[in-house]
Amino acid sequence: MNRKYMSQSFIHIIFTAAVIFSIGAALIIWGKALLTKAEEPVRLPVIMYHSIYTDTPTEYAVSPQQVESDLQWLKNNDYETVTAEQVIAYTQHRGNLPEKAVMITLDDGFYNNLSVLVPLLEKYDMTAVVSVVGSYIDNNAVKDPHNPKYSYLTWEDIGELLQSGRIEAGNHTYGMHSLYDGRIGCAISEGETEEEYHKALSDDIQRLQGEFREKIGFSPVIFTYPFGSISRESLPVIRDSGFLMTLTCRESVNYITREPDCLYGIGRYNRSGLYSTEEYMAKLFNS
Ligand SMILES: [Zn+2]
Repeated sequence: MNRKYMSQSFIHIIFTAAVIFSIGAALIIWGKALLTKAEEPVRLPVIMYHSIYTDTPTEYAVSPQQVESDLQWLKNNDYETVTAEQVIAYTQHRGNLPEKAVMITLDDGFYNNLSVLVPLLEKYDMTAVVSVVGSYIDNNAVKDPHNPKYSYLTWEDIGELLQSGRIEAGNHTYGMHSLYDGRIGCAISEGETEEEYHKALSDDIQRLQGEFREKIGFSPVIFTYPFGSISRESLPVIRDSGFLMTLTCRESVNYITREPDCLYGIGRYNRSGLYSTEEYMAKLFNS
């Protein structure tokens, strides 16, 4: 009787231990799977457009029909546009990003970004980042505004763009979107000291940030390098100016982690008007 009792008790202990072990192992595997999933970087391809108004597409100008065809392709293939704000929040451990994420960007601040793009973004429920050049707004746009073929955005247009809730603004420098005195865009010049360079870049950036604050009420957190011309020496100024994301013209796909520094140097693929939607998307998503 005693022996039988002991044997039953022993079996019971073994059985309980086995159950506890199995549950423990399952929890560890499940926990690991959750952890791995949460930490896996999110693939983020970024599209770069410029002007959207032409009958004869070029490397830096696409037709409204081409843009609509692109947005339709993204929709049909279940891609979701994400805002810079969403991406920034993700790196700060706030919120998540969709599995099939894509970001749309447009450089130089053409008026057609408002007249042509915004209605298309409304139609397809998408968002984009428009990076503007301060001197183009103050000098070119005011002289000849609202021509969808060539005008730049005025400050009123930029206000309207942002009010649409579809667009975020980027700083594309005030007056460094050019080649002058041996400087390419906002890169350091040959023979320039780091101190001289920091002052020149900071003065330029702050001029546009200041105008944004004055005209719009806030300043951008996205900086877009003119011509994708980057200097390592620009980074301290970029950080001190409060930018949380920089856009380049390096053709590469981005992998977004929970680390905010991964947003400095975002790669983008120029949407040349010389490609069909299918050719461009194959390049964007298969590389
Ligand atoms: Zn540009």
